[in-house]
Amino acid sequence: MNQDTICALATANGVGAIGIIRVSGENSFKVVGKVFKGTNLSKATSHTVHYGFIMDGVETIDEVMVSVFHSPRTFTTENSVEISFHGSPHIAKKILEVLIKNGARMAKAGEFTMRAFLNGRIDLSQAEAIADIIASENEASRKLALNQLKGGISMEIKALRADLLNFTSLVELELDFAEEDVEFADRTALLMLLDRIEAKLKDLIESFTYGNAVKNGVEVAIIGKPNAGKSTLLNALLKEERAIVSDIAGTTRDTIEEVLHINGTAFRFIDTAGLRETTDTIEAIGVKKAKEKIASARILLYLYDELENTPEEIAQFVKEVYREDLKIILLHNKIDLTGDDSDIFDNSVKNLIGDSTDFEIIKLSAREKTGIDILKGSLDAYVNNLKSDEDNVVITSQRHHESLQKSLLSVKSVRESIEETQTTELLAYELRNALESLGEISGEFTNDEVLGNIFSKFCIGK
Ligand code: GDP
Repeated sequence: MNQDTICALATANGVGAIGIIRVSGENSFKVVGKVFKGTNLSKATSHTVHYGFIMDGVETIDEVMVSVFHSPRTFTTENSVEISFHGSPHIAKKILEVLIKNGARMAKAGEFTMRAFLNGRIDLSQAEAIADIIASENEASRKLALNQLKGGISMEIKALRADLLNFTSLVELELDFAEEDVEFADRTALLMLLDRIEAKLKDLIESFTYGNAVKNGVEVAIIGKPNAGKSTLLNALLKEERAIVSDIAGTTRDTIEEVLHINGTAFRFIDTAGLRETTDTIEAIGVKKAKEKIASARILLYLYDELENTPEEIAQFVKEVYREDLKIILLHNKIDLTGDDSDIFDNSVKNLIGDSTDFEIIKLSAREKTGIDILKGSLDAYVNNLKSDEDNVVITSQRHHESLQKSLLSVKSVRESIEETQTTELLAYELRNALESLGEISGEFTNDEVLGNIFSKFCIGK
């Protein structure tokens, strides 16, 4: 267990009715006791609150309430103290200074949670869930994070991993009896277990599309010739919303994104720089450029109208950019100008594209704001369709997604080494690999770099 006593402001940095400073470490009671005028904290019962003053020598800094938590029933599992003071940033600073003067040190980002993990109270995916809960901005992401905090994903994987570990032990036992050519591990049963593990891993990997949509939003690209009505549409969609210019941590893109929230999901309109201003300078973009632009998008909105486009070129475009993981919504814009005849045009678009390519057509007048609700409904439906069962565990983390894919590959290698009746040594080796990648999610197998990466994204005080 770590001997350092760490301290940090746990509440937001700014003026508030109350601020809370958190202290953790074996010597927490001693350190805080040196500056607290009130109850003897070392003798106080766990989970009790005490009134008193924080002192710097003879000077009173603030009137406070101090909560005492004895190891191990605490967030970090270590002795912990929480000091509730009058919420002034200046007081917070003075209290932290006096704590440091008396033996504490400032906590690093995420260090409290890291201790909870290192001391075995939570696993790594639960630690990550804490960061997600703090960052959650809507119901869906809060629920997914809470489910992960309760151990959703870890439990599913731990059970499978435990079964695999049993087999691994048996296979390794065979190695000890190599000369006798015995088979302790029933290969047929092992293959059946691999089936189950693979199915579960695939489910989890698939759930990431939804989890990622909830957590990070869905990327939408708007494409169309100059004057197709792209910026008019964007303005109509974002009418009530204040345009948000976001830069997402962890990505190197510097494109401007505008965000539309529908039922708690963020739809990020990518690469809209310039769209909202003038259209005069915008050149028509070719298919190659369009493909680049929509490479990371999940939804494509393609605007056309009867005056400027032909069904042939629209069909051609759709066929060229089609991908299985891209939802294509064709927006027949400016129907206020053409009215009923638009059906004839759209039917020939449909016929030219054919049945094998999935897309939908929505009639629109971006200027008159007709069809906008239908479009919003269609965006919402996209996310709802990604959702499988409400109760299913959903992956929301890129790290988990990568570990799961790695696990799937290593499970496949195990299967191959059985099916190709490779040596027991090789099978044991592949099994160890699979166990390791399955253990990465919960943090049973990890390294300092991964940990540093995860916890440095936390705020200080968490
Ligand atoms: P962009 O180049 O694709 O961004 O196109 P704009 O949104 O700037 O629109 C180009 C022109 O088409 C503007 O004069 C718009 O007012 C007009 N426009 C856009 N949508 C509609 C529509 O639904 N109906 C009509 N009649 N005009 C539209």
